Amino acid sequence: MSPLEALGTTFGYKSFRGRQSEVIDRVMAGERTLAVMPTGAGKSLTYQIPALCRRGIGLVISPLIALMHDQVRSAEAAGIRAAALTSANDDRDETIRRLRAGDLDLLYVAPERATTESFRRLADQIPLALIAIDEAHCVSEWGHDFRPDYRQLRGLLDAFPGVPRLALTATADVRTRADILAQLGIPDEGLILAGFDRPNIQYRIAAREGLPRQLGQFIAETPGCGIVYAQSRAETERLAASLRDTGRPTRAYHAGLEPAARAASAKAFVQSEDMVMVATIAFGMGIDKPDVRFVAHAGLPKSIEAYYQETGRAGRDGDPAIAQLFWGADDFARARRRIETEMEESRRGGERARLNSLASLVETSGCRRAVLLRHFGEEPPLTCGNCDNCLSPPATVEATEIARKLLSAAFRTEMRYGIGHLTDVLAGKGTDKILGAGHHKLSVFGIGTPEELRLIKPVARALMARDALRADDFGGLSFGPGAKPILKGEEPVAVVLPPKRAERRSRSSED
Ligand code: ADP
Ligand code: ZN
Repeated sequence: MSPLEALGTTFGYKSFRGRQSEVIDRVMAGERTLAVMPTGAGKSLTYQIPALCRRGIGLVISPLIALMHDQVRSAEAAGIRAAALTSANDDRDETIRRLRAGDLDLLYVAPERATTESFRRLADQIPLALIAIDEAHCVSEWGHDFRPDYRQLRGLLDAFPGVPRLALTATADVRTRADILAQLGIPDEGLILAGFDRPNIQYRIAAREGLPRQLGQFIAETPGCGIVYAQSRAETERLAASLRDTGRPTRAYHAGLEPAARAASAKAFVQSEDMVMVATIAFGMGIDKPDVRFVAHAGLPKSIEAYYQETGRAGRDGDPAIAQLFWGADDFARARRRIETEMEESRRGGERARLNSLASLVETSGCRRAVLLRHFGEEPPLTCGNCDNCLSPPATVEATEIARKLLSAAFRTEMRYGIGHLTDVLAGKGTDKILGAGHHKLSVFGIGTPEELRLIKPVARALMARDALRADDFGGLSFGPGAKPILKGEEPVAVVLPPKRAERRSRSSED
C-alpha cells in the first residue's frame, strides 16, 4: 500500500496537508527526520501512515500516559492495530503477545519503559518499521518541559541504526530545535518545519494611546466573541468595567476568582456569540471554542511564541479573525528591568533575544506575518495581504537625527531624566527644572526642530524597543547596548508614523 492509498483507505482523506508528504517520504526512504509543526497540523499521520506501509511495527515514544491512551483509541478508531506499553498497564502480557505475533501496527511506549534493558531485548525480536519520538522537545533542557528519560532514548535509537527515526514537536524555538537534532542524532537537513501560518487571522499591532478608548473602539468594530488579554488581575477588572459601555456582555477572568465562578464564566463564553472575556493568560488553555473572532492584547506578550499561541486561539474554525495588539514603550522597559534585576545571569542572554524578536515584530513597517513565520524558521512571501501593514502600508520617516539628539540629551543630562524633561531640553524651554539644573547651558539645549520634536514619542518607543534606551523605576532614561551604533551613525532609525488623531476621530464618528 502506498502512503496516498493509506491516507484514503484508512483515514478517508484525499490529500496530504502542508509538508506531511515530505515527512512521510523521508520516513519511507529510511531517513531520519525532525518534523516541527503546530498542534493540529497533523503530525500523527506522519508516523501512522509509514507504520502501515512499511514492514514491521511502528514504535511511538510518548511522554504522557493519558495522552497515549487517547492516541491508541483514535488509532484504533481509524482501524489501525495499536496498543500502549506503560509502567502502569495490566494487559502487558497480552500486548507483548500481540507484538510477537505481528498483530500490531503501532506500539506506544512511555520513555521510562522504552529505555530499559528488557524493552531493548523485546524490540530486538520484532521487526521495526520506524521509531517515532513524540513531544521531542522533552529531550532538550532548552525546551519548556525537559524529561531526563528522553535523554536516555539515544541508546535505544542507536541500537537500531537502520530503523528510520522521526522526532515530532510543536515547539519552534531555534535552540530547542538544534538541541533535538543533536540529541537524537538527526542530520540538519532532516528538519522539516511548516504549517505555522494561520492565514485567516489578521494581525494588527498599534501603539497604546489611551487604551480604554482604543479597545472600546476596536470591540465596537469587531463582532463576535473575543478575548482581551490584560497584564494583571487588577487590569482585567478595570478594562472589563470600562468595556461595559460597548453594550457587549463582558466578563473579567483571572486565577484569583473562585473556581466555580471561573468555570461558569468559561462555560458562558463557550456558549456565547458576542461575549468579550477580559482575562489573564490563564484563560484559553483547555477552552474549546473554534469561533473566537478576535484576540486582543492590552500589552506586550512574553515572547513571540506566547503571542503566536495566544493569538492562535482566534479563528480555529477557519473563518476570518483578528489579532490586535496594543503595546507601549513601558512594556519593554518593564520587561527589560525584570530581565536585569530578577533573572539569573545565565538566562539573561536568551531572554534579551526573545524581547528583541518581539521588538522587531511590533516595530516593523513590513509584513507582520512574514516576521512571525520567519521567526519560526519558515520562508514566507514578503507580503501576506492580511495584516495591518500589508493592508495599509504605514508611512515611515527617517528619524536617525532626532534619535541621536535624544540620546545625546539623555547623556548630557547624566542619564537620569524622563522623556518629558528631555523633550523640553531639546525644545529649548526655560522651565524651572531646566534652569534649576542648568540644562539651558548644555549644547543640546534647543537643538530639536519642530518637525523632529513631533516624532519624539515614537522615536523614544523605538529606542526603548531596541534597547538603546532603558527606563528606571521613575522613568529616568539611560543607555542600553543599542545606543552606541545609533550614536555612531552605524544604524539608522526610522519610525512608523501613528495615524493622525483627527483621522481616527472622524473614522470612529462615522459608525
Ligand atoms: P497534531 O498531532 O499535529 O496536533 P493531529 O495529528 O492530531 O495533529 O491532526 C489534527 C487533525 O487533523 C486530526 O483530526 C487529523 O485526522 C486531521 N488531519 C491530519 N492530516 C490530514 C489531512 N491530510 N487531511 C485532512 N485532515 C487531516
Ligand atoms: Zn502581511
